[in-house]
Amino acid sequence: MSAFERQPAAVLEQLAALRELDPPTHGGHVLSYVYDSGLAELDELAAAAIRAVQPVNGLDPTTFASVAVLESELVGFVRGILHGDADVVGTATTGGTESCLLAVKTARETWRAQNPDAGRPRLVAPTTVHAAFQKAAAYFDLELDLVPVDADGRVVASEVIRRLGGDVALVVLSAPSYPFAALDPVGEVAPAAAELGIPLHVDACIGGLVLPFWAEATGADLPAWDFTVAGVTSVSADLHKFGYAPKGASVLLQRGRDRQRMQYFATTRWPGYPVVNPTILGSKSAGPLAAAWAITQTLGTDGFARLAAACARGTAALVNVIGGIEGLRVVGDPVGPLLAVAADESVPEDRRVDPHHWADAVRAHGFVLQLQPALVQPDGTVLPPTTHLTITPVTEAVLGDLGTALVAGADAVRGVPHIDGTALLAGLPPLDPAHLDADTAWALLQGFGIGQGAELPDAQAPLVALIEALPAPVAERLLTELLGRLVEPRG
Ligand SMILES: *Cc1c(COP(=O)(O)O)cnc(C)c1O
Repeated sequence: MSAFERQPAAVLEQLAALRELDPPTHGGHVLSYVYDSGLAELDELAAAAIRAVQPVNGLDPTTFASVAVLESELVGFVRGILHGDADVVGTATTGGTESCLLAVKTARETWRAQNPDAGRPRLVAPTTVHAAFQKAAAYFDLELDLVPVDADGRVVASEVIRRLGGDVALVVLSAPSYPFAALDPVGEVAPAAAELGIPLHVDACIGGLVLPFWAEATGADLPAWDFTVAGVTSVSADLHKFGYAPKGASVLLQRGRDRQRMQYFATTRWPGYPVVNPTILGSKSAGPLAAAWAITQTLGTDGFARLAAACARGTAALVNVIGGIEGLRVVGDPVGPLLAVAADESVPEDRRVDPHHWADAVRAHGFVLQLQPALVQPDGTVLPPTTHLTITPVTEAVLGDLGTALVAGADAVRGVPHIDGTALLAGLPPLDPAHLDADTAWALLQGFGIGQGAELPDAQAPLVALIEALPAPVAERLLTELLGRLVEPRG
């Protein structure tokens, strides 16, 4: 008799079938979330590395000495390409969000130590800063002071500097920002922050492993944004993005050991083993760390430079294609292999292409783009709805089909106006998110035609229009409900 209720082979077969539900994670058909180097050997290498450390507990480098070596060498590699000197130390984390959370936690502890009797510190950042910093501010109780950006997604350095003061625990700038690929003015803000003794984190989660090679890849001049800039106190860089590692790998670098020690949590005040954690998790996989290490060892800086060059060629080609589509425009002057596309307001309305209808139409041609809702900034200015594309080394190989899809998608929806979400709300009583219970929230979603079946609707434009129209706390509550229901046990 078997010890098993089901045969492993049958279970794996089912897993394979479930994976058919996913969009293709290789081959350049999904232009966000996944980062395909196009080098099958790297995927094999990562899988083998994960397998090699599968039973290890990444929690404790004193017990598992391999973990200490892997982390030290991975941090050293990233420090090298980000021009950190011997004063820069770092940690492998499970992802960009954890790196960002820890940068904020470090700054909060530092600020509290310096201001023992003061209240709640501020975190100053452009509105385009990754949502991970909103999460960090919420988790660690900082006031988020968001600085509006211009229509091209650029923040004015003096607007950031103007807000600096004794209650600011951290300034965050991006290299580049996720929504618009703007390279924030690190070199201009850093001296002012340093002068006031305020730490400056550069969020290079997406750019960290590709921007160091961008100037060479594109021939363009890039202002310095890494540890070569004196006032930069920490940098986050994700290995599971342009480091091509499986998900679960990022690095947070900090200038100065004393600063970095504030990142740790340590306690000997329980009857169990002493807990000394540089990161948020306790027991954790060493797999993504080992995979990221193996990939960086294998590629070396030259390998990363070559992949960055492929990204740069793909990006230039796509900018060209989109530039040739009547009714669309690339937002601002993106730095790095990502960009946002908006409707071109310089052409008559009936020639414009709504970026969300476009993304839905392009999806029908087999390419998945990412819809970004319009945003009202704190000063009342509005950032338009856009569609995001992340370009990876494989994009180049599918340029023909992708270009055709982008053009055909635009032709299919040219002149169709952006969905007015407020019309969807007609007749709805005012909603108080604090009193929206799970069943009411679910009923509302179903009233909007969302979530009836197990599957989400193919067209995302209506859902995003709803998000744009609803007050943010209500939208957040409804989306929480949607995501919560998605993973509830079925049947
Ligand atoms: C992806 C990203 C993050 C968050 O990283 P996760 O790995 O998704 O947790 C933070 N900042 C920027 C700029 C990013 O692109």
